[in-house]
Amino acid sequence: MVNLDYYDKIVSIDKDRKIVVMQAGIRLHDLGLKLKEHGLAMPNLGSIDHQSIAGAIGTGTHGSSTKHGLLSQSVMGLKIMLANGRTVSCSAEQNQDLFRAALVSLGALGIVVEVTFQVVPAFNIEWSQSLHSLEEIVEDWNKDLWTQKEFTRVWWMPYMKRVIKWRAEKTDRPEMSPVANWWSGRLGYHTYHILLYVAQWFPSLLPKIESFVINVQYGFKDGAGSTAIQESRTGLLMNCLYSQFVNEWAIPLNKGPEAITRLSNWLNGDEEASGIPGSSKGLYVHAPIEVRVSDTSTTTPRPYLDNTVPDSPTLYLNATLYRPYNQDPPCHKRYYEAFEYLMKEMGGRPHWAKNIHTVTREDVHNMYPNMNDWIRVRNEVDPEGMFVGDWHRRYLLPSDNGKPVLPNEERKVKIETARAGGVDWTGHIPSKPLSPQGSEESFEMMHGVEAEKSAFE
Ligand SMILES: Cc1cc2nc3c(=O)[nH]c(=O)nc-3n(C[C@H](O)[C@H](O)[C@H](O)COP(=O)(O)OP(=O)(O)OC[C@H]3O[C@@H](n4cnc5c(N)ncnc54)[C@H](O)[C@@H]3O)c2cc1C
Repeated sequence: MVNLDYYDKIVSIDKDRKIVVMQAGIRLHDLGLKLKEHGLAMPNLGSIDHQSIAGAIGTGTHGSSTKHGLLSQSVMGLKIMLANGRTVSCSAEQNQDLFRAALVSLGALGIVVEVTFQVVPAFNIEWSQSLHSLEEIVEDWNKDLWTQKEFTRVWWMPYMKRVIKWRAEKTDRPEMSPVANWWSGRLGYHTYHILLYVAQWFPSLLPKIESFVINVQYGFKDGAGSTAIQESRTGLLMNCLYSQFVNEWAIPLNKGPEAITRLSNWLNGDEEASGIPGSSKGLYVHAPIEVRVSDTSTTTPRPYLDNTVPDSPTLYLNATLYRPYNQDPPCHKRYYEAFEYLMKEMGGRPHWAKNIHTVTREDVHNMYPNMNDWIRVRNEVDPEGMFVGDWHRRYLLPSDNGKPVLPNEERKVKIETARAGGVDWTGHIPSKPLSPQGSEESFEMMHGVEAEKSAFE
């Protein structure tokens, strides 16, 4: 395990061309603060800014806007330290194969040590959020729901059949803080948490809890809501509340109304209309289900493992389930089986950094026409498997039938239920030294790659 938390400096900023070069361990939060000093900002953000830039790029992290693709869309170049300790550069122009593999690398190619990124002038956003019926959102789907403002996301409350529509646009107006109310602060946070915890034993309370919490916080009438003006660095983020399972899939945006209607039917007990096998009887889920978008149809070159839709906008459905006080919710296996069945029917692909339940290696290979390109590049740059873990073997690399395939690959030893919820995972890496020949070959095989000294030297 390599930790780049202290490898987090800005290497250079070209203010005129708005290009920043940074060490790959920098957290998006710190990056945002540094950029602000120069009147610059990230073009888009996901829900949080705790991630490192390398982690966000390496897993296909996205925000919610049809005017933007993945966060990695703005990556101009990467420097990667390979298993042999040498550092190589790649970009759309230089060693494009490695670049496409590294844009969603899942940590399996080498250590990304430096990122060159296209940023934008700092901007404020004016956002508003309001309550609407689910029906209204589905009706507006193909009108201007996703295009009227630059940034749009929707939180769907499955039992109320209502949504909160959050939209934001760039503005020159000065900041205006959101109106604080007693419920949206600590009181609301702890009350919802305790109610979710109680529902671990009495899940049928969840529809009432959903209705209570949303009505108290957002108002009882459709259209009720709030507004504010904030710098993009903070305004684009959202409070993710508690520890959670997240099961998020990317599907074509035009499949949204069908997917949402069918899932709504299933969750509300109309299994026949949902077309989803399996009963939802006695199953109750948490709110909200997150509904977001991106558009990568003009992105070039595309990451080999890009999970978005190549020729039209992408919709992300995120079936969030909280883990109240770190306890797994009782329904999660049955819910995720049904949800993943639907997502597969919609031609979806799961988010690389989130929870999956029924997905197999065969599924993943069928979902990614460029999988063999990614594997080829990976095997070239790391033939001994220094960066291969059990997860990569399970979902991406050919089955090993339980036998070691690559000499330095990490193997699973055991998985145990953790006392605080979740699991403790133990692995083993053979302490075999790198064969100088194999690692040198890995470097030589990267034709056209520029050899550089290690970034850590
Ligand atoms: C609360 C929460 C909210 C989130 N919101 C969103 C969201 O809005 N949109 C979205 O798309 N995703 C979201 N995510 C997912 C998140 O963006 C990813 O999990 C991201 O990878 C986390 O970054 P990290 O720095 O913690 O990476 P890690 O979890 O440490 O690593 C993630 C992967 O990247 C690899 N990696 C990390 N650093 C390097 C490096 N230097 N070189 C090579 N490989 C590397 C790791 O090996 C691993 O495979 C969210 C996650 C959480 C926990």
